[in-house]
Amino acid sequence: MFDLRDLYQQVIVDHNKSPRNFGKLDDCNHQADGYNPLCGDKLHIYLRINDAGTIEDVSFEGDGCAISVASASLMTDALKGKTVQESQIMFEQFQHMATSDLSESPDEKKLGKLAVLAGVREFPSRIKCATLCWHTLQAAINDAASPAKTE
Ligand code: ZN
Repeated sequence: MFDLRDLYQQVIVDHNKSPRNFGKLDDCNHQADGYNPLCGDKLHIYLRINDAGTIEDVSFEGDGCAISVASASLMTDALKGKTVQESQIMFEQFQHMATSDLSESPDEKKLGKLAVLAGVREFPSRIKCATLCWHTLQAAINDAASPAKTE
């Protein structure tokens, strides 16, 4: 039988093995660090936002567990070409998914590929691994002086 969890697992393994948008973005105009002390995940997000408020490019560097790297890879893919405002809505939807009840199916129409991370709900200690990149994104958009922390 087709198992959705296997598919989710495959996507996470793939994004962890070959993360998209990994590396420094030389012409970025926003950046921030993020740290998840629970797991030891570290991320740095680079963003280029144009005057119209569109995320033209985004990349990340870092060192962390498979979930944190796959989540950052999927997030950066999803953000390109979106406005900062749209990124805020995605962040809310992602947060909602990551903390929602297991009986609630992720809204794949809204979340797209990000829905593969719904599996973290079964492992509460991994939720912060999955949301770290989104907190770091917030810090980068706001040009926060101190690193984003999940704690
Ligand atoms: Zn982690």
